[in-house]
Amino acid sequence: MHVHVNAAVSVDGKLSSRRREQVAISGPDDFDRVDRIRAAADAVMVGIGTVLADDPRLGLDEEQRRVERLRAGRPGEPARVVADSRARTPPDARVLAGDATTYVLVADVASDEDVRSIEAAGATVIESGRDRVDLPTALGTLEADGVDRLLVEGGGELLFSLFDAGLVDEVTVFVGSMLIGGREAPTLVDGEGFVEEFPRLSLDAVERIDDGVLLSYNV
Ligand code: NAP
Repeated sequence: MHVHVNAAVSVDGKLSSRRREQVAISGPDDFDRVDRIRAAADAVMVGIGTVLADDPRLGLDEEQRRVERLRAGRPGEPARVVADSRARTPPDARVLAGDATTYVLVADVASDEDVRSIEAAGATVIESGRDRVDLPTALGTLEADGVDRLLVEGGGELLFSLFDAGLVDEVTVFVGSMLIGGREAPTLVDGEGFVEEFPRLSLDAVERIDDGVLLSYNV
């Protein structure tokens, strides 16, 4: 499986403000780029923190991209994946609506009742790990179900775990020309943080988009 991390950050590396509400960091050209890489993915993944904060749909905006996927014999929209150990995804979350497949990755701690209500809302629940989703196992299950290209859009807690487990192959970060600040504001990579060995990225390209910069890395 190829795992591509994509996110938009402020110059000071924040994904959003301390209120954890969505901040418009990108412009229209970057949104179009994200739509294009979503269209190339088999599935688009976020953490439950992002679902609860932003209620994203994780679908395609451009109808032509849906049509091209269908012509290529693929589902019109990529599948959606939520890392949600305790099955907190609200049954009316936008990520569960529509025709696209949604996988909710849960851990053993999730209650049967919450799992059932997510399944009743149409999602496929994949269980791994005891207290938290075991990402290598869960991604292995997704791969066995046909997810070869996974796009991960955040947030910082989920991204830390993916880097920590060595699961990331490619990173694109749009750096918008703004500051957000705030020690409690989420950054691209949060979690416990690295202290001894730091993941090193290999810079592949630098491109000016909208009023910002797109940095592309291989891992
Ligand atoms: P997050 O990374 O979206 O979700 C974190 C949650 O995922 C954890 O609290 C955990 O909750 C769950 N999870 C399940 N398995 C995990 C694992 N193995 N490792 C880590 N987490 C796991 O949340 P966040 O860091 O709070 O980020 C949300 C913020 O980021 C929001 O403010 C949103 O607006 C922002 N955001 C910005 C962008 C951007 O491009 N600018 C993109 C995405 C999000 P459980 O333990 O309950 O499972």
